[in-house]
Amino acid sequence: ASAFESIQMAPTDPLFGLMAAFRADSSDKKVDLGIGAYRDDNAKPWILPVVKKADEIVRNDPANNNEYLPIAGLASLTSAAAKLVLGGDSSALKEKRVASFQTISGTGACHLGALFFAKFNQRSKTIYVSNPTWANHHQIFQNVGLSIAQYPYFARESCGLDWDGMTSSLRNAEPNSIILLHACAHNPTGVDPTQDQWKEIAAIMKERSLFPFFDVAYQGFASGDLAKDAWAIQYFVEQGFELCIAESFAKNFGLYGQRAGCFHYVAAPSPAAEDLTKRVASQLAILTRSEISNPPIYGAKIAATVLNDPALFEEWKQDLGVMSGRIIAMRKALYEKLVELKTPGTWDHITSQIGMFSFTGLSETQVLKIREEFHIYMTKNGRISMAGLNTKNVDYVAHAFDKIVR
Ligand code: PLP
Repeated sequence: ASAFESIQMAPTDPLFGLMAAFRADSSDKKVDLGIGAYRDDNAKPWILPVVKKADEIVRNDPANNNEYLPIAGLASLTSAAAKLVLGGDSSALKEKRVASFQTISGTGACHLGALFFAKFNQRSKTIYVSNPTWANHHQIFQNVGLSIAQYPYFARESCGLDWDGMTSSLRNAEPNSIILLHACAHNPTGVDPTQDQWKEIAAIMKERSLFPFFDVAYQGFASGDLAKDAWAIQYFVEQGFELCIAESFAKNFGLYGQRAGCFHYVAAPSPAAEDLTKRVASQLAILTRSEISNPPIYGAKIAATVLNDPALFEEWKQDLGVMSGRIIAMRKALYEKLVELKTPGTWDHITSQIGMFSFTGLSETQVLKIREEFHIYMTKNGRISMAGLNTKNVDYVAHAFDKIVR
């Protein structure tokens, strides 16, 4: 008998299952609104023009090779990544209280953080995630033995933030608990706190001694403005928090399969912070070494080339503007069509939500019906990816929504 005789069949990943169902659908009307990657107006993957340029620079560099990176990754990437997310004149960087490690994209950064907490956070093994959150957060944190708690986040009635639910949950959280926060473009809801609300969240977390762990997978992709999308993180750092950040370059560079990302530990300001940061970095190095030995090189070089060259950096901002601009335009188009059709219900949330995803408010029954009748694919919770909409299918999708909710 096998050593794994009693192993149970695991459920298939819901998102990957949805992708398979979409591929198997032979209708020429089919629309993929499940997709977690940017698509252009022809529903095709888009290589950022600046990434094409950087790719050529990397490929033609006579010093290019496929050697191992150091354990902490490509230094020109991790230092630029820290500047990008913390701001160029960050006091934390000046005071050398940031430890940065290149990771296997944002997932790897979340995982390294999870492992670090599980092993070294003496004060708490509980992490609060928003309800709902990116589904993978649950397994990433549980896999290393952390316990998951949830704070309410989404208000069904308004399709907006459940402010009272969220804040009262944070107020009642056990002191020192880790709180996972989406820095911008919350996945799956598309609902972000306002800057005033972030200030209040920071005040509550200070008062209750809660530990912020920011997941930033959409910087620049949400609003098109890199600084604006990192505002919450920079505010928390200014407030003197000790915190961690999981940073992904999958969406904002379109480097999905290259798996480029970073994990950052930021110590609270204190005379001992630099020394503490060095000790943290030494342990992160051991964790990284045992898990991946050292991170992948190619995507890291592409991102680093763009981040460290002022002209390419400017071009990148334009490319971010193209992606975020198209998504914002699709939100507007869908909203306007629904209003024009006098579709029952309010749809303001479509334009007030931000980033790649939107929680439509469609029920699971409606989601299954729209798939069957209109070949429109979205996750069961009614989340749609705005990147799946384009000028050719947005009217069709609006008509389908209209039919399904009547
Ligand atoms: N965190 C959130 C909230 C995400 O939505 C994603 C991707 O969908 C990630 C992290 C990590 O993605 P990746 O590992 O591709 O960088």
